[in-house]
Amino acid sequence: MRTHARTGTHAGPGPHAYAYANTRARATLRNTPRAATLLTLLLAAVLLAACGKSGTPPPKGPKPKDLPSYQVATDVDIDSPTFRAAKSRGRLIVGTKADQPYVAAQDPASGYYSGFDIEIAKMVAASLGFPADRVEFKTITSANRETSLQNGEVDYYVGTYTINDNRKKLVGFAGPYYMAGQALLVRKNDKDINGPQDLAGKKVCSVSGSTPYQRLVANYPKATAVAYDSYSVCVDNLISLQVDAVTTDDTILKGYAAKVPDQLRLAGEPFSQEPYGIGVPRGDRNFRLAIDDAIVAHEANGDWKRAYDSTLGLSGVPAPQPPPVDRY
Ligand code: GLU
Repeated sequence: MRTHARTGTHAGPGPHAYAYANTRARATLRNTPRAATLLTLLLAAVLLAACGKSGTPPPKGPKPKDLPSYQVATDVDIDSPTFRAAKSRGRLIVGTKADQPYVAAQDPASGYYSGFDIEIAKMVAASLGFPADRVEFKTITSANRETSLQNGEVDYYVGTYTINDNRKKLVGFAGPYYMAGQALLVRKNDKDINGPQDLAGKKVCSVSGSTPYQRLVANYPKATAVAYDSYSVCVDNLISLQVDAVTTDDTILKGYAAKVPDQLRLAGEPFSQEPYGIGVPRGDRNFRLAIDDAIVAHEANGDWKRAYDSTLGLSGVPAPQPPPVDRY
């Protein structure tokens, strides 16, 4: 079991949005010869959109050969039910996202997961004694993270997961290992939206169970909030003019914008703090502290920065200083 079919089909804004265009074009092609020209034009447009006006191909995802490898610890033993269960199973099960470019994305053809959060998950696994081929990733949407940890479906969760007090009542958090901030993604040619102050009367898309969605509803009641269970669906809706903006963390939005820079742009500055944590079962304190130790060690030995540079760094922002780990 590697993926969750629903989210797994949305690999990013590009291919998904283009799939619609191709289906429509194929239906027309069967009927008239003139449609062949139409199809050629359409494909050319799609290609242009994908390549950007200058003809430069869009940045590709992280390349496996550029990714760091992490030293796998031996003889690890932790007095932790989660750790013991993983050890006797012979592999770790880690929850993540599948449709967030440079952060946590799954290649639909190979099933391969890549991105900064995937690297964080792998470096922690190495410190727990599990090499990368002993880590099984499972796609879990924002709204299902707490239940997946509570019912033991995953051992830990790494996927743009903001630490906050409400969630701490349900799960434990190691970290933080990164500080993101809520931002806005709009169409490149949109001149109206330049920050959250411009959202009145606009349709704004986000994901159920996420902190950006909650903040949108609570603080910007004049916007019309639309919720789906993954951000790539929001981005498809933005490109096809169904919504006016997408809101979530800047990390996620920068990834989508980097894929189609001639169509999308970030509007204004981030307007919240989203400290990313690694979600663990709430009662398993020793497991959480062992993961805190792992994060601190990988920040100190350069793995964290190498991982950032070969993933999130590809969307154009140099590595920041990671926030201090909060061992509670
Ligand atoms: N970091 C935010 C959250 O945890 C938004 C990103 C997400 O939905 O994963 O809710």
